Amino acid sequence: MRSVTGRKNVAEMCADLLQDESNLSGAWCEAAVWPQDTDEARDYIEKCSRTGVKLTVSGGLTGIAGGALPEGGSVISASALKDIRLLDNGNIAAGAGVIIEELNAFISANTDGLFYPPDTTEETASVGGTIATNASGADSFLYGATRNWVEGLKIILPGGKLLDIKRGTDLFENRKCTHPLLGTIHLPPLRSEQPPKNAAGYYVQPDMDLIDLFIGSEGTLGFIVEAELKLAPVPEYVIDLAVFPDNQKSFWELYDSLLHAPEPLRIRALEMMDDRCMDFLRSHPGELPLPPEGALFCLLLRAEADSDEHLEETLVTLDDMLASSNSNPETAWGGFEPSERKRIKDFRHALPEAVNHCIAESRRKCPSIHKFGSDGAVELSRFEDYFARVTGILEERGLPFVIFGHAGQGHIHANAMPENPRQMILAGEAMREIAKAAVEMGGTVSAEHGLGKLKLDYLKLMYSEDEIKGMEAIRRVIDPNLLFGAGPNI
Ligand SMILES: Cc1cc2nc3c(=O)[nH]c(=O)nc-3n(C[C@H](O)[C@H](O)[C@H](O)COP(=O)(O)OP(=O)(O)OC[C@H]3O[C@@H](n4cnc5c(N)ncnc54)[C@H](O)[C@@H]3O)c2cc1C
Repeated sequence: MRSVTGRKNVAEMCADLLQDESNLSGAWCEAAVWPQDTDEARDYIEKCSRTGVKLTVSGGLTGIAGGALPEGGSVISASALKDIRLLDNGNIAAGAGVIIEELNAFISANTDGLFYPPDTTEETASVGGTIATNASGADSFLYGATRNWVEGLKIILPGGKLLDIKRGTDLFENRKCTHPLLGTIHLPPLRSEQPPKNAAGYYVQPDMDLIDLFIGSEGTLGFIVEAELKLAPVPEYVIDLAVFPDNQKSFWELYDSLLHAPEPLRIRALEMMDDRCMDFLRSHPGELPLPPEGALFCLLLRAEADSDEHLEETLVTLDDMLASSNSNPETAWGGFEPSERKRIKDFRHALPEAVNHCIAESRRKCPSIHKFGSDGAVELSRFEDYFARVTGILEERGLPFVIFGHAGQGHIHANAMPENPRQMILAGEAMREIAKAAVEMGGTVSAEHGLGKLKLDYLKLMYSEDEIKGMEAIRRVIDPNLLFGAGPNI
C-alpha cells in the first residue's frame, strides 16, 4: 500500500490532500495512505483503531465544506479503489475511488441505453465522496439525489470490520435497529421532519433503511470501499431550454406553472439565474453568447420525451406555457439537438467560471479573498419569499453577489464575491443570516454540499441540543472512540 508518513513529508509530497474546494486552510496530518483493495483498507483501519489514530477519509477532494481535510491523524484516500463491473442484476459495482467521469464512461461503453441519473456536476468527484455527501444536481428534480440510486455499500467500520449492506435488508422499526456488527442504534426524535432536500446532520426518518444512515454521513461513520449503483433507461429525447422573462412576474408565473406541469410534460430539471447573474454575464463577457437584451431572469429547464409524438406534445405545451406567462418564446434558447443542448450547458457553466475569474482578480489585490456560497433550501411554497429575503440580506451589506440554483427544489446558491477584508467579514455574516432564514422558513442550512468542517456550527441553527446529542449518540455506537472525521465533525 502506498503511504507517506511524517507531517512535513505529507505537506511536501502530497499537498493536494490538504486542499479541497472549501477554501479552508491549515489542514495537516501525520500520515497518508492509499489502500489498493478492501483488505489493505481493513488492516490499516483496524491498526488505527488499536492505536487510537484519528482518520479523515479523502475522495475526489471536490467537496465545498472541507469534510475531507484532516486536522491531524491520518488521511485514508479512496483514490486507488478503481474496480468497476457490471452485475448480473444490471446494477454497477464501483470502487469508492472511481470518479463520476469514469463511471459514466463505463456505463455508456458497457450497457445498452442506461445511465446513472444523479447528475452531480463535478465529474472528478468520486463515487465514495458523492455517497458520503449524498450529492445531487440539476436532474435531482426528477431523479432525486445520490441516495435514490445506491442499492448496496461495503464500508469498513471504525473498528476495522467490513459491513456489507444491501438496501431493504436492515430496517429501523420505531426508530430502533439492531445489527450484529453495529449493536443497537436509536434514532433521535426530531421536532420536525427533515426537509426533503437536506444535507445537514445524519439522515433520520422513523422507519428508514439502515443503509441510508451511511449515505450523507460525510466520512464520520466509516470508509466506503465499494457501492452497488442502480441505473435508469436513457430517454429517447432530452430537451434543454433557457427562457429569459423580462420581468419578475412572468418569471414566477412560469416557474409556478412548470413546477406543477401536468402530463405530457416530464420536467427533469428546473433551475434559475437571477437578474444579477444576467448583469454579471453581460459585464464579464467570455466566448459565449450573452443573455438576450432585456432578459431579467433566466429559467433553465430540462424535459424528457419517450417518442416523436411525446416530443411534439412537449414542445407545443412548453410554447403555450411560455406564451401564457408572457415569456417570449422567440428569445428562448435550446432544443433537443446536441448543439442546442451544448449551448445551454456552456451558458450554465459560464456563470461559475465568471464568478471564479472575478474572485481570482480580487485575490490578486488581497490574497485572503475567497468566494462565499450559501446552500440553503426551503419548501416550494416559500421559495419566492426566501429568494427575496436572501437578496435583501446581501443587499443590506452592500456585497457584490449573484444568485442561481435549483429553483425546482426551493434551493439556491447565493454567491457573495467580496472585494476587500471588510466585505469578507460581511459575507461571512450574510451566509449565517441566510442559513438562519432558511431554518425560520422550515428549510435546511445545507441542501447539497453538507456541513463538513466549514459549516459545522450551522447544525445548531437547525437542530436543538437534544437532537444533536441524539445524532452524536448514533455516532458513538458506530465509532465509540470518535476515530473518523478528525476535527470537529458531527
Ligand atoms: C465546480 C463544482 C461543482 C459542484 N457541483 C456540485 C453539485 O452539483 N452537487 C453537489 O452535491 N455537489 C457539488 N459539488 C461539491 C462536490 O463535488 C460534492 O460534494 C462531491 O460529492 C464530493 O465528492 P469528492 O469525491 O470530491 O469528496 P471529497 O471532497 O473528497 O470528500 C467529501 C466528504 O466525503 C467524505 N468521503 C469521501 N470519500 C469517502 C469514502 N470513500 N468513504 C467515506 N467518506 C468519504 C469525506 O471525508 C468528506 O467528508 C461541486 C463542487 C465543485 C468544485
